[in-house]
Amino acid sequence: MSFVYFEGKIVHEDEAKISIKTNSFHYGTAVFEGIRAYYNKENDTMYGLFFKEHYQRLFTNMKILNMSIDETIDELVEITKDLIKKNNYKEDVYIRPIVYFADLKISPKLIGYTARIAIYTLPLGDYIDTSKGIKAKISSWTRLNDNMIPPRLKVTGAYVNSAFAKTEALLAGADEAIVLNKNGYVSEGSAENIFIVRDGTLITPPVSDDILEGITRKAIIQIAKDNNIPVVERNIARTELYVADEVFFCGTGAQISPVVIIDDRVIGDGSPGKITKFIQNIYFDAVRGKIEKYKNWVVEIK
Ligand code: PMP
Repeated sequence: MSFVYFEGKIVHEDEAKISIKTNSFHYGTAVFEGIRAYYNKENDTMYGLFFKEHYQRLFTNMKILNMSIDETIDELVEITKDLIKKNNYKEDVYIRPIVYFADLKISPKLIGYTARIAIYTLPLGDYIDTSKGIKAKISSWTRLNDNMIPPRLKVTGAYVNSAFAKTEALLAGADEAIVLNKNGYVSEGSAENIFIVRDGTLITPPVSDDILEGITRKAIIQIAKDNNIPVVERNIARTELYVADEVFFCGTGAQISPVVIIDDRVIGDGSPGKITKFIQNIYFDAVRGKIEKYKNWVVEIK
């Protein structure tokens, strides 16, 4: 039984229940985050990764949905650290904060309701493979855009689009979907941003191509720049994926996941690429607090 944060307190998970009448449960209007904490066994320490950045994004998302809660970003960082400590983890952990309209009222709207935050945690190793390389499939589902459900929102309703894409990919024998936007350009995976490598340059779709403004994406751009790997944010066409030297997904859950097959075409030589592995090695050390330069990414949980 784990400890969770619910209605202003840390409680046992069996005490954290919501009514079937809860407004956001019906209309997909809850905003959430996916955060990780990593265990470093060399010094027996848990490191929270980008805690502040995730809660900042949550607050930006809340602003768009006209939500406010009692807790501040700094308080939520402390509550999350307390939860990890109380649950006594000595392994990698995923953290799921969710802000929802708690009113037991009918009607999809964003005014006149009270928002609350709940947070739970679970042990989580790889969400998708990070070593051998995975198979992806271009989705027949189109990515949402800013005038439908804004892709910059991590809002529960938007994940219907992700669920369609992921399910289609799985049923076709692939591991993950790549979703194109309304203009036919590559946007992202079902729950990951995407990078390709061509002639030593990292290329990733711009925010205007209907992607989530990923925190891992930003960290990767920083690693690349610090190591003189050129990075370009520009449109990527579907067939450019097929001819890329390397492709990888990134995200808090996905971490850095090399893609070696797309629509039955082999990418590069069919194994995780050199630049992908280079960035991955730095990332996996940084998230466990092992790189001085990136110590500001993590918070020690003591
Ligand atoms: N895109 C989508 C749709 C996602 O759900 C996620 C996971 N949060 C990402 C990209 C990656 O974002 P981040 O690196 O901030 O986890």
